[in-house]
Amino acid sequence: MIKRGTVLTMDENRRILRNGAISIEDGRILNIGPTETVSKNFRADEVIDAKGSIVMPGLICAHTHMYGIALRGSSLRIEPPSDFSQILQRMWWPLDEILTNEDAYATTLAASIESVMNGTTCFADTYSAPNHIAGSLDSISKAVNEVGIRGLISFEATERRNSCEGKRGLQENIRFIKSKNKGRAMGMMSLHASFTVSNDLVEEGSELSKKYDVPITIHVSEGQSDSYHNIERYGKRTVERLHAAGLLSQRAVLAHCVHLNEQEIELIHYTSSNVAHNPMSNMLNAVGIAPLIDMIDHGINVGLGNDGYVFDMFENMRSAFLLHRVGRRDPNRPSAQQVVEMCTVNSARAYGLNSLGSIASGKEADIIIVRPSFVATPSTGSIYGYVVNGLKGSDVSDVIIGGEVIVRERRLLRLDTDKIGKQVRKSISGLWRRLGSSPPEALEPLRLEQGRL
Ligand SMILES: [Zn+2]
Repeated sequence: MIKRGTVLTMDENRRILRNGAISIEDGRILNIGPTETVSKNFRADEVIDAKGSIVMPGLICAHTHMYGIALRGSSLRIEPPSDFSQILQRMWWPLDEILTNEDAYATTLAASIESVMNGTTCFADTYSAPNHIAGSLDSISKAVNEVGIRGLISFEATERRNSCEGKRGLQENIRFIKSKNKGRAMGMMSLHASFTVSNDLVEEGSELSKKYDVPITIHVSEGQSDSYHNIERYGKRTVERLHAAGLLSQRAVLAHCVHLNEQEIELIHYTSSNVAHNPMSNMLNAVGIAPLIDMIDHGINVGLGNDGYVFDMFENMRSAFLLHRVGRRDPNRPSAQQVVEMCTVNSARAYGLNSLGSIASGKEADIIIVRPSFVATPSTGSIYGYVVNGLKGSDVSDVIIGGEVIVRERRLLRLDTDKIGKQVRKSISGLWRRLGSSPPEALEPLRLEQGRL
């Protein structure tokens, strides 16, 4: 049982409880209510006192590449890219080429630890490594389950080289979806982006997503060139082409959607497709500002992702909050509540994870306890603003996933982080060498201290 906290439920009525308690049994939420009432009716084996803390659903990252953590601090000697296509060609794709299953494991382990320490309890990942496709998802799943986080994982099918490569990507997803004992990992379908896949592959991926009843995700109009590519080659804009190939449905999660016109927004809404918005990555890659407010106004379900960049979803929430305000010169939109919804209930709904994203009776007990250092918790009227403007990942004190305490008072319980630090450092240093960049000696790429990266 968690007691005496300010509980931000994100349930259907968006209830907020002062001095609230949550009872948990067999990994699920049994009851929520005033501490006095819940304590009277439930005898707990373990009680966490959350006085002075905010208790909220675990954050859900709707789009990531866990292996992106390998690029942090790398001193790649490349000609500086001048647009998004060059960022892919000069940075990401050479990295993809050299990744092995061991790297997949090490980078997922590092990014999962950092994510969970910052309050993320579930993420949706797409992985890319053209030279080591088979078995890669098993390596990623191993890391996910060792940390105890939830991961919706997939191999990003692409035909950058040939159509055979695309089929092998889809095959790896099918293999993993059909595999048993996945633990906290889940499978889905994934395609890279409209400019690296043929209509045949889009159709095949979409049919498989339907057949196995799993989500399908793809990068959509992240850069302006995506629209140009589709108009030139198919006579349609990106979303129109993907719709014609059968991809749009409530199973589809379209990552980015920075360059959309009115018709494309309507098409996404009409087909009940979902969008994963990645504000920090969009700023980093200078691709533009996604029409978030227009999408929300059309009733599109928009979740929040980090795109493999900053593994602290509080920072990503704050970026979404700020970017669109400055972008539209509107100091009121989006609201702080809308931003918290994106990172909890909307991200869960995007992937059909209906038992996640909120604190309600019968749902999975994926809960975080946030203890801000100095400032008292706010009144219920200002709590969303407080979460978005005032909190950061390092304020997260406890993380519970499926009723299991994964992080207690900022210590990761399942793993020896010193040992992992060495292993991850070795793997990432090896990666950098193979990329032709030497890892800096003075600055160690990853340092683990008391369970923190
Ligand atoms: Zn991405």
